[in-house]
Amino acid sequence: MKVVIIGAVAGGASAAARARRLDESAEIVLIERGADPSFANCGMPYYIGGEIESREKLIVTSAGMLHDRYRLDVRVRQEALRIDRQAKTVRVRRLENGAEYDESYDKLILSPGAAPIRPELPGIDHPKVYTLRNLDDADLLHAATMGAKRAVIVGGGFIGVEMAENLVRRGVETTLIERNDQILTPWDAEMVAPAAAALRSAGVTLKLGAEAEAFEPQDDGGVTVALKSGEQLSADFVVMCIGVRPENALAKAAGLAIGERGGIRVDETMRTDDPDIYAVGDAVETFDSVTGKPTQIPLAGPANRQGRIAADNCFGRESRYRGTQGTAIVGACGVTAAMTGLSEKACRRLGVAFEKVYVHPASNAGYYPGAEGMTLKLVFDPENGRVLGAQGVGGKGVDKRIDVLAMALQAGMTVYDLEESELCYAPQYGSAKDPVNMLGFVAAGLLRGDHPVEHAHRLLDCELGDSFVLDVRSPGEHAAGAVPGATNINIDELRERLGELPKDRRIVAYCKVGMRGYLATRLLRQHGFDAVNLSGGFTKYERFVAARAEATPKMAPSGR
Ligand SMILES: Cc1cc2nc3c(=O)[nH]c(=O)nc-3n(C[C@H](O)[C@H](O)[C@H](O)COP(=O)(O)OP(=O)(O)OC[C@H]3O[C@@H](n4cnc5c(N)ncnc54)[C@H](O)[C@@H]3O)c2cc1C
Repeated sequence: MKVVIIGAVAGGASAAARARRLDESAEIVLIERGADPSFANCGMPYYIGGEIESREKLIVTSAGMLHDRYRLDVRVRQEALRIDRQAKTVRVRRLENGAEYDESYDKLILSPGAAPIRPELPGIDHPKVYTLRNLDDADLLHAATMGAKRAVIVGGGFIGVEMAENLVRRGVETTLIERNDQILTPWDAEMVAPAAAALRSAGVTLKLGAEAEAFEPQDDGGVTVALKSGEQLSADFVVMCIGVRPENALAKAAGLAIGERGGIRVDETMRTDDPDIYAVGDAVETFDSVTGKPTQIPLAGPANRQGRIAADNCFGRESRYRGTQGTAIVGACGVTAAMTGLSEKACRRLGVAFEKVYVHPASNAGYYPGAEGMTLKLVFDPENGRVLGAQGVGGKGVDKRIDVLAMALQAGMTVYDLEESELCYAPQYGSAKDPVNMLGFVAAGLLRGDHPVEHAHRLLDCELGDSFVLDVRSPGEHAAGAVPGATNINIDELRERLGELPKDRRIVAYCKVGMRGYLATRLLRQHGFDAVNLSGGFTKYERFVAARAEATPKMAPSGR
């Protein structure tokens, strides 16, 4: 059996190593356009920022090691030009001298990845307008960063945020512009407000609702970024981080089916519509494991798993991809944001019925030194409680909770399962009632009708009619900031002051994070009041206020 793999980084290298483990006698050829097979793309921003000091650390496995350990035939600086499906050959060009040859295959695996988007804007070809995909790009950016004073990053996705963190680490005055009203658009806006605040506190100038429309050369070799608003930003260099486009040209030219989003269409075995050609990674369109709909999420985990699966199927082992959940994590100057599955806005966009709850627990027992706060949001099916998605933002421990919730989602678990999850606990690591349990308690209690909740955005949008808003925090907390129009009765005095509350109006109780609001709701409901708890409490309310303040004044004048 001869397997040819195009693209030798995440998906390609993973497929090749798996192929060798499955078949010692197979001939395995890897064709890679770049200079480096199997390098750590995800580590590049941290090399540019100096956190990873040595470039060598980014070379996960060299071509020599891939040969010595796996007997892989790795051909770097060679580009696959076209596929002849009838002859089962690939036309390959050696980039150092332009010589071409045909390579035959029994099975072909495509893992060409995705290319950074460079929109056709005036001046986009200025040499100081960079993108970041491979080590050549990382070298250029590493060099550009040295001695630079000012940089502009266009795009507030994962790579834009990571680059911002790393450029300020290098002491570069950094402006990040993002067309949307929030950074990290897969998340819900209120969940990433703390990440935006952390970038700002670290010195990043964040411009939301701002769009670049041209790049103009400066006399000193720098570049001016012209925004649609008319504002001009001066920079030593620019990094374009506005997303990636699947490299589908080879597949398209070979007549393979391409999905609506431009990804190579594959089935659950990662096979294209040609039985001898598989495709994996950022270049493919797979399906969302929650909705079953086509999706394209460029992440390293799916690429690696898909590489394995494609190799399995090439060698006759039945192996199926379970779909992509979009489990992702990013650090933003000390704040971690992580998510899995559907966000609230994805549910709204897709018309998926959902309910949501928020909790604001600590990473570990509050009495143990070093506990850090976090906010978790759970989105679930209002009928049966099935977990649809989760997001977390905050300090340490966010990653572990989202990983647990990612597994719960994949296993088809419900909020009732979260209540019963047995997770590890000692005071330095967690709490006897882990944040995941807390999400389960709140969500399951809501579904059982024990403590209905109301949501901050509805309060802000005045959608709650003549509800009576009750602040059950202490007078001191109330004086420091409260929902406009709220009446303050400390939870500890509530039983004695029930007479001050209306029986003919809905009472929306709230506290700082939802715990005392929950107690108040239970107490009031048992006394015959129509009481609900404000999910996530005043903390969540303030996040919504902050997220909206970010969005409102910066809407692009184009009226997007
Ligand atoms: C800066 C950065 C940070 C990232 N951080 C994260 C992260 O923290 N977490 C995460 O999950 N994901 C991250 N990603 C995304 C992750 O790296 C990708 O999802 C993953 O590498 C995709 O694997 P792939 O095999 O599809 O493509 P790639 O790893 O991009 O490999 C594709 C290779 O194919 C080669 N190629 C393309 N066409 C041809 C051709 N015709 N002939 C020969 N060779 C060809 C390309 O040169 C390329 O090297 C990051 C990406 C970048 C750029």
